Amino acid sequence: MYQAETLKSLSVVFFFILLSCDTNHIKPTILIENVIIVDGQGNKPSKGSIRIKDDKIVAVGQIVASKSDSIINGRGWHVSPGFIDSHSHHDSGRAPTYEAALSQGITTIIIGQDGFSRFPIGTYLDTIQTHPEPINIASYTGHNTIRLKVMDDYKREANGTEIDSMKLLLKQEMEGGAIGLSTGLEYDPGIYSSTEEVIELSKELQAYGGRYISHMRSEDVGLEAAIEEIIKIGKEADVPVQISHFKLGRKGLWGKAQEFINRLNEARKEGVEITADVYPYEYWSSTMTVLFPKRDFDNIESARFALSELTTPEGMIISSFNADTTYEGKTLAEIADERNQDPAQTYLDLIAMSIETPGESIIAKSMTKEDIYTLLSWEHANLCSDGSPTGHPRGWGSFPRYFSEAKDIPIEERIIKMTSQAAQNIGIGNIGEIKPGYFADLVLFNPETLKDKATFNESSQPAEGIIQVWVSGKKVYDQGRLTGIKSGRVIRRG
Ligand SMILES: [Zn+2]
Repeated sequence: MYQAETLKSLSVVFFFILLSCDTNHIKPTILIENVIIVDGQGNKPSKGSIRIKDDKIVAVGQIVASKSDSIINGRGWHVSPGFIDSHSHHDSGRAPTYEAALSQGITTIIIGQDGFSRFPIGTYLDTIQTHPEPINIASYTGHNTIRLKVMDDYKREANGTEIDSMKLLLKQEMEGGAIGLSTGLEYDPGIYSSTEEVIELSKELQAYGGRYISHMRSEDVGLEAAIEEIIKIGKEADVPVQISHFKLGRKGLWGKAQEFINRLNEARKEGVEITADVYPYEYWSSTMTVLFPKRDFDNIESARFALSELTTPEGMIISSFNADTTYEGKTLAEIADERNQDPAQTYLDLIAMSIETPGESIIAKSMTKEDIYTLLSWEHANLCSDGSPTGHPRGWGSFPRYFSEAKDIPIEERIIKMTSQAAQNIGIGNIGEIKPGYFADLVLFNPETLKDKATFNESSQPAEGIIQVWVSGKKVYDQGRLTGIKSGRVIRRG
């Protein structure tokens, strides 16, 4: 009896302790102390603390803890602004958890890329505002999406009435909170649009402070012309333009990254606010048909050209193929071997099969590391992932991969590419820097071990070295796990 009473009172004391621990969480401010701050502004890393109130950073530097602070010991780890992914497909798949993005330190994703977006975007943004995700989300509105709404037979240029209808839809989407217009001019139906159509639509962005971002008409054979096209769109529509996943995807272009940068700098001198994002892989991921700009899927010469100048049979991996799933994970060279065929013929056959039974994607090697890093070194370029939860390892590894591969670049400059440069290029304020008044989106990491783990065979591997990720002042990822807290914000233009 006596023992039971003692136990009872002990448990009351214990409960009280629990409660008082809990009051820690409702203290008005959080102080993350004992961290090395890489602020996203380019300052040298420095030891200090960060005070957070609600969803914002309120103080940075040498801070004396106060009674109102709930203390987090950063144990000497580095802390930077949350990474910003200016070209993301992390919202794809059913009920995405965003683990692929958060586990590599990404706290903001920009979706609605390559000309495809949710429609109407306002409804989608309202839904995630009511039921938040653990990550911040902003979206472009897709040219392909609105073109399909307006044109049934889309394999032609749009007429004036159709362009007017698209303008109305674009206005509606901008009012719903889109941050601008994205095009995917290498894909159906955007591939059939004229430059004039895109310029006419882009002019509508001005009134909203919107921006234009583009998966350009070509990243290989017609890259030079595609760059002239985006410069022209920027100039004539008078809006900032961004090249999506900038790459030199043709053998004949390898080693010429600096020449392209020179052209972009020239355009900037002429008043075009042009920028670019780049992901750090020599392999891209897309559809089989993307290497046929003329859509001549029965032309063996086009297939031969694609397999010699743009990629190789060994460098093309079939990642998904509904027509015959036994081909998934194999290279085109392996499949051609199995079928005892010329790889170019196999390529055409597979495309024909995928037209019968839709659903395919490939990963193919077309770039060099040297070009990738030269493009990324351009002062107006930022890092992106172009990633999704499955498929290409970039979905899980882009940011840590760049961080660990670019070790010769000072850490504060690498972090700019991953944070504030992206914020600037997409025109979003109050994120991407550790600064009072900015949102408390933060990544706690170990610079010695930060590294990508995802490979082509095992693409869903979380990176090493990310310790904690904070979104809007709340911990959403902790030591390899999602915490279940969903404090992501919806970011709308204006
Ligand atoms: Zn793209």
